Amino acid sequence: MKNFEYLEPTTVAEACSLLQQHAGEAKVFAGGTHLTILMKQGLYEPKALVNVKNIRELKGVRYDSTEGLIIGALTTHRELETSALVQEKFPVLCAAEREVANIRVRNMGTVGGNLASGEPLTDLSQIFIALDGKARIVGPNGQRTIPVEELFVDFYTTSLADDEILTQIMLPPLSPRSGVEYVRFSSSSVVDKPSVGVAVRLTLDNSSETIHVARVVLGCVGATPVRARKAEALLMAKKLTAELAEQAGSTASQECTPTSDLRGSEQYKRAIVRTLVKRATGKAYERALGF
Ligand SMILES: Cc1cc2nc3c(=O)[nH]c(=O)nc-3n(C[C@H](O)[C@H](O)[C@H](O)COP(=O)(O)OP(=O)(O)OC[C@H]3O[C@@H](n4cnc5c(N)ncnc54)[C@H](O)[C@@H]3O)c2cc1C
Repeated sequence: MKNFEYLEPTTVAEACSLLQQHAGEAKVFAGGTHLTILMKQGLYEPKALVNVKNIRELKGVRYDSTEGLIIGALTTHRELETSALVQEKFPVLCAAEREVANIRVRNMGTVGGNLASGEPLTDLSQIFIALDGKARIVGPNGQRTIPVEELFVDFYTTSLADDEILTQIMLPPLSPRSGVEYVRFSSSSVVDKPSVGVAVRLTLDNSSETIHVARVVLGCVGATPVRARKAEALLMAKKLTAELAEQAGSTASQECTPTSDLRGSEQYKRAIVRTLVKRATGKAYERALGF
């Protein structure tokens, strides 16, 4: 690994200013689980690392009745997994976190690093997008808030500028009569990154069993997470039946661009998407009905 300068700001403003001073040659360093691997492989050779772990404003999880669940970028996977507040508001996140990586990575890796890496084989982005999550970003010129979906541009590429910091994720309060489910498939029997991950959120009409809002989000089957908008449209204004869930799965399997690799062929991954969407849609519907 090449030598680098190691910087430890204590505020977001200071961190942005350091990133700006190094004009594209510095990297934010949070848990280091992703960055360290790339640096050891020589794929990243930053001249400076800006360690953000001492910035208090990036830490913690809290709930606000307007903004919903606010997750600081430095929240680790393990903190999310074990938080009583998260379990109460969005239990789907605790359940998903139990399957992320292994305990060592969950103890060190952060939510901010998970998203900012732009790594396609991850779990959280699908769930955040299905929940209409927003990302708060701070740079030298101030703050902006974007849908989580807009963070992702390409493989390992996000819309964050070199001198910007992802500070928080906000998940708006879940409407009554909503159900959420996340299902992931990992092709290996040992701990591994997911091969496919599907998040579904359904919200029903106030007074009927008809679907009013549908979100179907596919992960690991393209450069970025994908909203399966045709499948969502198919589910809208209908009661879920086994046949409709099957159709949604089959439609979604054609809305992604999986690549053939060690985790399976393109065809195999499309078949997994079809099954997982069908399964997640059924479970989300049951939850929305209160079962
Ligand atoms: C063995 C292994 C298995 C894994 N399995 C899974 C899995 O099953 N599911 C899953 O979802 N993920 C998985 N991951 C990915 C893991 O979740 C990420 O590595 C971790 O969350 C990254 O967080 P970090 O704090 O360590 O990031 P770092 O390594 O510190 O940083 C990652 C990238 O994000 C940037 N960055 C970090 N924080 C910020 C910020 N606040 N603002 C702007 N930029 C920032 C850094 O500059 C860097 O480019 C796995 C990783 C490993 C090593």
